[in-house]
Amino acid sequence: MINEQVEQSGFDFLKMDTFLMDHHRELRDSVRAFVQSDVLPNINPYWERAEFPREIAMKLKGLPIMGGLIRGFGSAGLDPIAMGLVMYELSKGDGSITTFYGVHSGLAMGSIGLLGSNEQRERWLPAMANLEKIGAFGLTEPERGSNAVDVQTTAIRDGDHFVINGAKRWIGNASIADLIVIWARDEEGRFGGYVLENPSQTEGVTITDLQGKIGKRAILNAQIELNNVRIPVENKLEKANSSRDAGKVLVLGRYGVAWEAAGAAAGCFEHALEYAKNREQFGKPIAGFQLIQQKLVEMATEVTLMQLLCFQMGNLIVAGNFNEAIASMGKYNNARKARQVALMAREVMGGNGLLIENHVARLLTDIEVIYTYEGTNEVQTLIVGRELTGINAFV
Ligand SMILES: Cc1cc2nc3c(=O)[nH]c(=O)nc-3n(C[C@H](O)[C@H](O)[C@H](O)COP(=O)(O)OP(=O)(O)OC[C@H]3O[C@@H](n4cnc5c(N)ncnc54)[C@H](O)[C@@H]3O)c2cc1C
Repeated sequence: MINEQVEQSGFDFLKMDTFLMDHHRELRDSVRAFVQSDVLPNINPYWERAEFPREIAMKLKGLPIMGGLIRGFGSAGLDPIAMGLVMYELSKGDGSITTFYGVHSGLAMGSIGLLGSNEQRERWLPAMANLEKIGAFGLTEPERGSNAVDVQTTAIRDGDHFVINGAKRWIGNASIADLIVIWARDEEGRFGGYVLENPSQTEGVTITDLQGKIGKRAILNAQIELNNVRIPVENKLEKANSSRDAGKVLVLGRYGVAWEAAGAAAGCFEHALEYAKNREQFGKPIAGFQLIQQKLVEMATEVTLMQLLCFQMGNLIVAGNFNEAIASMGKYNNARKARQVALMAREVMGGNGLLIENHVARLLTDIEVIYTYEGTNEVQTLIVGRELTGINAFV
């Protein structure tokens, strides 16, 4: 029975659980338990106030997940499936907590882990792995979103410092960050990643949280102004020397976001299924109406296909056979389908689907962010289209 499945290990129609290893199940169950005990009962007031739930987020350090795939330096050293399961389970609960984790562990630690020297990894990763230091990732600019490869922020060498000028926008965790990886171009136009430490206390840095955001309201995104900001030369990430290098971080980010979309959709479906079985109209549970069952089947099928895509992507990473276009197809499909699933779940729950106390409304707005960040759906389409045709349709 699906009911039992949902209660035990989450919706899993194609029995993906049977392909997991014991350590995957243990990790999945511990993240799920954290979501049930710490996230779901507490998140809604933070979401309504658009306030970062620091106490909840700090409890993530009790889980063996920080640093994701990074091995050593205090990091979790997860395999790709384990990392995906973490994103999936967090996202089933709440998108703001997921993004706090994704930005800190995936994008900020990921940049240092993939592109830093050993010395730089040693310097920053252990403190980030136990959340003594929080990280952020500053790529997007007010005038450079989808074409962030053309960043306008500059990093000009001056003695033993780089002088940074420019602006960044939408940067998650920025106002609480101990370090932000700032992407900029040097005097010769070369792309680079520069670790800005103690940003809120650094001269020339102004961080302003964006107000009135309708999705992922419990994580704060900021506009950053950088005005003659001095960063020591040893803070330039040693192996971050081109937009392709930044792309290595983003490809894994998109893999994680595909799992995130699947998790948010699964959360919506599970809430809607439970609701449909308990809500009575015309003298019987609404789950007994064909039109409701049709929506439930559609949601269940889409969630299952998303799960399959995620698992296969994970297998391809393990096999060393993954690439940018595959990550983009995963993100493209899952973000788009998650949006549809969330709307159907909302419909099944009628008016109650509009109340955040029933969780689906919050997940629905989380999915709007998933649809846009780490490359919009159009950008993912163009990447896959370029792979299929060999023709670049970006410009
Ligand atoms: C909540 C949230 C959190 C974020 N967190 C971070 C973060 O931590 N760090 C960070 O660096 N960035 C972050 N971002 C930025 C995010 O990656 C960008 O919003 C995204 O890349 C899109 O850029 P844009 O919003 O400027 O839209 P634009 O690039 O201006 O796009 C507007 C529209 O035009 C379309 N479009 C653009 N170019 C083309 C084209 N060539 N062909 C067809 N259509 C096109 C887009 O798909 C979109 O529909 C975040 C964004 C959000 C909303």
